[in-house]
Amino acid sequence: MASLVSIKQLDVHTIEWLLQNAQSFVDYHGDARKGYSVVHLFFEPSTRTHLSFQMAAQRLGMEILDFSIDQSSVNKGESVIDTLQTIDAIGVDLAVIRDGGDWPALLVNEKLNMSLVNAGSGTFEHPTQALLDALTMQQHFGSLSGLTVTIVGDIAHSRVARSNVYLLHKMGVTVQFAGPEAYKTTHIENVEWVDFDEAVTQSDVIMMLRIQHERHAEHYEIADYHGRFGLNKARLNMMRKDAIILHPGPVNRNVEICDEAMADPRCKILTQVKNGVAVRMAVLDWCLQGGSDEKLVSA
Ligand code: ASP
Repeated sequence: MASLVSIKQLDVHTIEWLLQNAQSFVDYHGDARKGYSVVHLFFEPSTRTHLSFQMAAQRLGMEILDFSIDQSSVNKGESVIDTLQTIDAIGVDLAVIRDGGDWPALLVNEKLNMSLVNAGSGTFEHPTQALLDALTMQQHFGSLSGLTVTIVGDIAHSRVARSNVYLLHKMGVTVQFAGPEAYKTTHIENVEWVDFDEAVTQSDVIMMLRIQHERHAEHYEIADYHGRFGLNKARLNMMRKDAIILHPGPVNRNVEICDEAMADPRCKILTQVKNGVAVRMAVLDWCLQGGSDEKLVSA
């Protein structure tokens, strides 16, 4: 069975195939993966990702094992790797993991029979978020190639920015960053930093990010963040009529995005959430069939 840890492991053909399969899963309720089991290990808080992975597994007919970090032996000091080996020995087919650390590096040499799906790991990557963002853009614009996407905010601490850049570059999209000097990083290559006010008038997609306070060594506030780097009313009015607004959630209203922008028809945040279920169905299905691009299960 295959695992999905990073967007870097997917080639263009596989990304296209996953998006196509996700699209065909949008209204699918069946039992394509009946008899397979999944456990969700969420060591960091989550609403959208956790629930949509659960919904995805249910809509494929999978069996979901009950696991709560608080009630588990993790609380007695068991390591993530020992916990995973235990779950693997029980015979679970797939584990979905969210963790504050860079667990892919830890697991690289571990021999597990089950598949692993990265549901967000530290500042490393969040591959299913990038896939659902891509599906949302593709549905709106028809194709990804040639689009300009501006990602705004706390780039340095964002696993969402990383996975999006890796995916969008593969698909022929121009990605640019905007935001505070303090949130710049040199770790993501080939992305230009631009002035937000200029970018907002030209971009096809404005992707706003939450400030990742939980990943900052020191707590620091940037004065008038909303006025300087938020999608406020003035910038909303400057956006193109055919552009869209994305945000991975959770949104801090009137910090990254004003109420008017949240209510604007160009705001596709709930479409992203809906697409998250279909994309995660496609990813679970892909892992369980060994990562191969076989014919669409739902077709
Ligand atoms: N939900 C996204 C993540 O887990 C974004 C965020 O938390 O700001 O990375």
